[in-house]
Amino acid sequence: MSEVIGQDRLISIIASEAKNRHSSSYLINAPKGMGKHLIASSFAKALMCEEPGERGACGICRCCKYFEANTTPDVVYVEGDSDGKNVKVDDIRNNVVADASIRPQFSKTKVYIIDLDYVAEDGQNVLLKSIEEPPQSAVFIMITSSPDKVLGTVMSRAMELKLEPYTSDAIYEILKASGAGGSREELSDCISYCASNPGRAISIASDDTFAKLTEDVRRLILSVGDRSISDILTDDVAFLASCKDRIDLVFEIMLKTLDAMAMYLKAPDNKTALKAGPDIKEFVLSNKRLSTVKIGRCVEAINNMRRALAVNCNLENNSGVLLLTMHEELRRI
Ligand SMILES: [Zn+2]
Repeated sequence: MSEVIGQDRLISIIASEAKNRHSSSYLINAPKGMGKHLIASSFAKALMCEEPGERGACGICRCCKYFEANTTPDVVYVEGDSDGKNVKVDDIRNNVVADASIRPQFSKTKVYIIDLDYVAEDGQNVLLKSIEEPPQSAVFIMITSSPDKVLGTVMSRAMELKLEPYTSDAIYEILKASGAGGSREELSDCISYCASNPGRAISIASDDTFAKLTEDVRRLILSVGDRSISDILTDDVAFLASCKDRIDLVFEIMLKTLDAMAMYLKAPDNKTALKAGPDIKEFVLSNKRLSTVKIGRCVEAINNMRRALAVNCNLENNSGVLLLTMHEELRRI
C-alpha cells in the first residue's frame, strides 16, 4: 500500500484486517479529497492478495497482478455515473445483492467498493440485506462524505476505518506524488491553505488563479476596516459571492491572514511572525486599535459564517455580516 501516504496507522489496521477479518462491512467516512477511494482500493487489493503482509497487498502474487491490471472480476465498484446520478436500486439488487452469492473467481474474497454518496435511501435499504447476512466470501467497503445521509442501520453494521489527520509533510509528499512541481517552500501556500485535505492541496497546486485569489482576499481583509459601509455591502459582498465555489479556500486564506496578523502583533521578533508579508506588517504597525481579541472576533465571525453555509444559509447575507464585523474590528480609527 505504498501509494497511500500519511495514513500509517490505518494501513496497519487494514493490513491486519486483510489477514484476519473482524467484519464483512467497513465504512470510511471523510470529506471529499481525503483519499477515501484510494484507501478503499488499497484495502480491496490487500483482501484479494494471496500473501498480504504488514503493509497490505504483496504486489507480486497473481491476484495482485490482476488487480493492478484492472482485470479482476472479483472487485465490484458501485458508484454514481459520469453525470453524478445515483446508482439505480435495480443495479444494487443485481450487481451487489445477487452477485454477492456467486463465489469469487480468482481470489478468496469478493470485494464491493460502494460509494454511499450515490446510493439513496431505497438503495441502502436493499443493500442492507447483504450487509446483514453477508455471504462468506463477500466484503463490503463503503465510503461516504455525507454520513448524515447514511442509514443508521447501515452505519451500525459496519466497522469504521478512521483516517488520521494528514501532516504537512504527508501533504507535501502527496503533492510531489501527484506530479506537482516546486520545492517545499514554493508549495508551502498549497500546504497551508488546504486545511489538511490532500485533494484540496492538489487542486490548489494546479489552480493558476490561486495566487490572484490569495492576493485579493488578503487585500480585502487589510482594507475592509478603511472602506465605507456602502462599498462593503456592494463591491466586497459581490466579490465573496463571486467566490461561491471556492468559499472554503477563501475562509482558509482569511484565517491564515488573521493568524499571521496575530502572530506579528504578539511577538514581532518571533521567527514565524517575521515571515508575515510586508502588507501585514505595515497593517499591524499602523493599526493602534488592533488587539488579539479583535482578531479573535474576526475568526469567530468566519467560523459562524462557515456553520451558516453548512446549513445552506444565504451567502450574500452572511458575507455582509462577516465583512461588517471585520470592518468594525479591523478599522484603524
Ligand atoms: Zn499479493
